[in-house]
Amino acid sequence: EQAQLTRLRRQPTRTVDGVDVRLWANAETRTDVAEAHALGADGVGLYRTEFLFMQRRELPTEEEQFLAYRDLVLGMAGRPVTIRTLDLGADKADHTGLALRSEPNPALGLRGVRLSLRHSALFATQLRAILRAAAYGPVRILVPMVSGREEMLAVAQLIEQVRAGLRADAVQAGDQVELGAMVEVPAAALALPDFVDLVDFVSVGTNDLVQYLLAVDRNHEALADLYTPRHPALLRLLSELFAYARREGIGVTVCGEMAADPDNVPLLLALGLRDLSLHPGSLLEVRRAVRAADFGRLRRRAATLLRVHDRAGIEGWLART
Ligand code: PEP
Ligand code: MG
Repeated sequence: EQAQLTRLRRQPTRTVDGVDVRLWANAETRTDVAEAHALGADGVGLYRTEFLFMQRRELPTEEEQFLAYRDLVLGMAGRPVTIRTLDLGADKADHTGLALRSEPNPALGLRGVRLSLRHSALFATQLRAILRAAAYGPVRILVPMVSGREEMLAVAQLIEQVRAGLRADAVQAGDQVELGAMVEVPAAALALPDFVDLVDFVSVGTNDLVQYLLAVDRNHEALADLYTPRHPALLRLLSELFAYARREGIGVTVCGEMAADPDNVPLLLALGLRDLSLHPGSLLEVRRAVRAADFGRLRRRAATLLRVHDRAGIEGWLART
């Protein structure tokens, strides 16, 4: 079993009918990045920057962030890396004092891009470090907890200001940095046409999207049975989002845990997804699931999938793949 998986290290992530699927890695530590590279990940699809801010009281400097991001870029040796801007707040603990200490409803509170935009000097420092690291290889910037155009516009404008500052200081920076939004607040999926001109790609964070779409706390033990991506509403939302992204020519990736479960691969491919991002520990199992899948057949069965009425219907559909 393990030997079988190990052999997949050098195999392409291609379906039985010859469709290439890109597997990106969710990676934070040096070890993750090395593993992602060794397993042939197509890039880093989600680099969470919170860990640079957690377990400490003082904020990381621009130089400290720059060095961490540059390490990441160099570690992937020319494959693109997606750096998510700070997503503190809610379930992400914070000791720097940036996030509010107590909020009545943290999941609906000051977190992600909302927090960054309230601290624009700090946000600018992070963007400056990212743009500087982008001089060493392909970098994409990903913005968490976006709900609509205003936030993406504010971020795009701040990036331009930071860029101008770097030019004025004659500091080296990458000039081909793509900008993307996380789709994890349901409003972002519905409002994507309002800000599609501002983004090169979107990445679906199903961990939060399931939480907000189904109104089920992602960490609530007593509700664990209700917290599942196998809900017809989620599948329909994803189906429309993927089709819209394809029509508009922007990239779309799923980077939540949904993409790390090989049993979900037929669902995601049926809905038209070709880019999955997951922690390196699941990469080979997911590659195996992709290599066992028939993309054309799954696409033809998508209409049936979108007509199920409940979770049992989804499981039944899966059992027939
Ligand atoms: C998500 O919400 O699916 C996601 C990838 O982000 P995080 O788990 O860091 O909130
Ligand atoms: Mg999230």
